[in-house]
Amino acid sequence: ILHRRRRMGDMPNWVRAMDIVTEFEEKCGTPIGKLRQVADAMVVEMFAGLASENGSRVKMLISYVDNVCNQIFNRNRNEDGLFYALDLGGTNFRVLRVQLDAGGGSIKNLEFTEVAIPPELMVGTSDALFGYIAAELANFVAQEGKGFYLSYGRERELGFTFSFPVMQTSINSGTLIKWTKGFSINDAFGQDVVAALTRALKKQGLSMHVTALANDTVGTLAGGRFLNRDVVAAVILGTGTNAAYVERADAIPKWHGPPPRSGEMVINMEWGNFHSEHLPLTDYDHALDFESLNRGEQIFEKMISGMYLGEIVRRVLCRMAEEAAFFFETVPPKLQIPFILRTPDMSAMHHDTSPDLRVVGTKLKDILEISNVSLKKSKVIVKLCDIVATRGARLAAAGIFGILKKVGRHASENGKNQKTVIAMDGGLYEHYTRFGSCLENTLKDLVGDEVWQYISIQHANDGSGIGAALLAASHSRYLEASET
Ligand code: BGC
Ligand code: MG
Repeated sequence: ILHRRRRMGDMPNWVRAMDIVTEFEEKCGTPIGKLRQVADAMVVEMFAGLASENGSRVKMLISYVDNVCNQIFNRNRNEDGLFYALDLGGTNFRVLRVQLDAGGGSIKNLEFTEVAIPPELMVGTSDALFGYIAAELANFVAQEGKGFYLSYGRERELGFTFSFPVMQTSINSGTLIKWTKGFSINDAFGQDVVAALTRALKKQGLSMHVTALANDTVGTLAGGRFLNRDVVAAVILGTGTNAAYVERADAIPKWHGPPPRSGEMVINMEWGNFHSEHLPLTDYDHALDFESLNRGEQIFEKMISGMYLGEIVRRVLCRMAEEAAFFFETVPPKLQIPFILRTPDMSAMHHDTSPDLRVVGTKLKDILEISNVSLKKSKVIVKLCDIVATRGARLAAAGIFGILKKVGRHASENGKNQKTVIAMDGGLYEHYTRFGSCLENTLKDLVGDEVWQYISIQHANDGSGIGAALLAASHSRYLEASET
């Protein structure tokens, strides 16, 4: 092989290169029958996770949000409420303030700011992380100005969206089960995340009461439901992926608390940790998992979410460079750097509609320092992006179909189906257009044309932050929520 490569100079071994692509494509296949198996396996895990605390890898966490109300009242109905939210995601965090009106809890005013989380804080200590967040929050609170006011004698209240698996013990307390995405902070396990935040706020001299702790999916669901009663589930497709939905309380055997008045409880599925023999995993996925911060965990997430899609493409390209001299005789050094190819760049290449695939060329040059890539090669790269994005989007659709099955919204009721809305958020869904449209088309195929008329997917922009502020309000010491 060496001899041949040398003779052909920079010419790739096209036969070998295309073999790698074809084999990868076959292994990534998600025919509709397979997706149905994935959805059914998801339903099985949902039942198991609801049955007992360690019943499944899919944790089905109880959120303590049992009243997804659409009105929030002041006790004396003549004061507005000011609420803060802190939304800690996978890459950024966001702080918001919301002024609710007295009568029915509509949003009168809203301000927010977004801050990137310094990478070193994702793998440092919990004091450093919470200290940083608290300082930013203190800054933001200090800028509270026109259009926002706190009633005399009240303490500021905060809803905390924490986008990691938490075993909650009440609406405003809970301990971290594990980190996901790019986070790995050893001293945070078993700690109450609200207590850790409150301590950090105190150090900043900030007196704030955390009245609600929620996963981002739960925040998005609460925010979505506040505006539209037909919202039954929320899905996040961002750095990580997850879903939450409204479950009947009597369908949760592991819940031993008092039966909620509404008869319902929001469940944070943590579906990112789903695994099944039906998942179309490849050698690249196994290698990615093996070298990840959380080996053996979050397998579904590693096939779907924004943190990983670009990295899967990079791994396939790397193999093609090694075994088929796809770019040069040697492997381009930059291509060997894990996570260098980010999903937004993959998306840009995948959406390149210029006849000469100019965007692909630019990205390869800027990111991987590979120049003068032929049109033929560029097409292969777009194809790889398509394979990886399609698999992820179709699997996410299968997961949603599983939820619809679990709550009985998947089948035709002879024209009497209830409307079903799924609130979606996350950068992957928002920015990777082909991913979103593939997901929708696949879900449509899974439910069939008739039922599809009753289903809609709605983008809940910044839903998790606003939702957290609303949850803070509905669990406030000063306001009360009502079911209408
Ligand atoms: C976390 C979930 C979160 C999701 C989306 C996952 O990695 O485990 O708690 O909802 O990412 O942010
Ligand atoms: Mg987020």
